[in-house]
Amino acid sequence: MIEWSETHASIRDSIRKFCETEVKPKIHAIEHEGVPPYEVLRKLIATFGIADMARMRFAGQIEKEKARLARAAAEGSTPDAERERAPRKPSPEAGMEMAMRMIPVIELSRYSPGIVTALGVSMGLTANAIMARGTIAQKERWALSLMTLETIGAWAITEPGSGSDAFGAMKSVAKRDGDGYVLSGSKTFITNGPYADTIVFICKLDEGNEPKLRKVLSFVLDKGMPGLTQSKPLQKLGLHGSPTGELFLDDVRVGKDRLLGETEEQPARAATKETFTAERTAVAAMALGLVEECQRLSIDYAKTREQFGKKIGEFQLIQLKLAKMEVARMNIQNLVFRQIEMAGEGRSMSLAEASACKLYCAQAAMEVCNETVQLFGGNGYMAEYRVEQLFRDARVLQIYGGTDEIQISQIARSLLETG
Ligand SMILES: Cc1cc2nc3c(=O)[nH]c(=O)nc-3n(C[C@H](O)[C@H](O)[C@H](O)COP(=O)(O)OP(=O)(O)OC[C@H]3O[C@@H](n4cnc5c(N)ncnc54)[C@H](O)[C@@H]3O)c2cc1C
Repeated sequence: MIEWSETHASIRDSIRKFCETEVKPKIHAIEHEGVPPYEVLRKLIATFGIADMARMRFAGQIEKEKARLARAAAEGSTPDAERERAPRKPSPEAGMEMAMRMIPVIELSRYSPGIVTALGVSMGLTANAIMARGTIAQKERWALSLMTLETIGAWAITEPGSGSDAFGAMKSVAKRDGDGYVLSGSKTFITNGPYADTIVFICKLDEGNEPKLRKVLSFVLDKGMPGLTQSKPLQKLGLHGSPTGELFLDDVRVGKDRLLGETEEQPARAATKETFTAERTAVAAMALGLVEECQRLSIDYAKTREQFGKKIGEFQLIQLKLAKMEVARMNIQNLVFRQIEMAGEGRSMSLAEASACKLYCAQAAMEVCNETVQLFGGNGYMAEYRVEQLFRDARVLQIYGGTDEIQISQIARSLLETG
């Protein structure tokens, strides 16, 4: 894929129009007055029939899964073995679906990467975690309403003492209690945490053994459960369109029906790595939206702002900034196209490739936003000009989903193991 198709461009134009008419007027309230972004996101979902598409996709997936379970039961094999034996086939529809997921992310990121984060964590990470490892009953109970944004989801692994070393330093625990479990611990920096209806809570099974040997389990929690407290939104540097909060669990009693996959033998560490891969690749589309918008604003400004009797675009040092923005835009766009192309071939990035993709896109987007503020001079520092918000918002791309340093060690580890 070397450029957007006509179909892609027409979808992009409709979403761009929606952003202009529906998102832009609400940006001030969302960014500066603490208004949550969910109403505008639900309107987006309804306007573009995304909920109906999700319902159809869900029905198809559940049907296939039931057939897979029936086959496994008839053959006496395990459903997991069945899943391993069924590699994804090339399909242009899957490529189109990936493009359809990325185009709204690119367009919304021009206005508010925070809104995109709130959307991605709910419909993406949380729903995908349940769809990847949950039982059919759990998918029907929680995932479908997340995929249609009727409910808001949060995915909680980070704790006050464990971020980069998410598993090693994890203190949240589940203890067996009759047929069920008692959960305790606290989580922080959780996107949608303050408002989430459904929370995927990742913890370790405490069997009195050494913490580093404990199994990792994921549970699905509902808002309002006794012992669960969801904090108010935390104050942040940027990304105000995405409410971030803490979760406190004080002896929350749950049945086995809330244990993802309803088995303690679930490969939770592997599932979490799948979630990291998805989270990291999604940064490319956000970075593209940010870079395209910064470049557009910079070109306009360079053509109109005058100093020393000239348009600033005539100064070579300003031209260098514009040229470097274009190089970043081309590279990031190519990484977006690669993901669409891979999806069409039934493939996806490995964790190491996703890490390399995220590292490059996050750093390039941050550099472009920084240079845009510089190009705008004092105006770039003022909230009235949008570049100030984009600059603050871009900073998180180098932190969440794994910091730059963690991406670097992931890439290097993979090279040293396989190279
Ligand atoms: C806005 C926002 C939203 C978030 N949303 C979620 C969410 O929805 N769910 C969730 O679970 N988490 C979420 N997070 C948490 C995020 O994933 C973590 O902040 C991130 O993984 C880093 O962890 P930390 O903040 O504990 O930093 P630390 O791990 O304490 O890192 C501190 C510094 O040390 C460096 N460092 C750590 N280990 C190494 C190493 N081995 N080598 C070199 N350097 C190292 C780091 O790179 C960093 O520079 C969110 C964070 C933010 C800011």
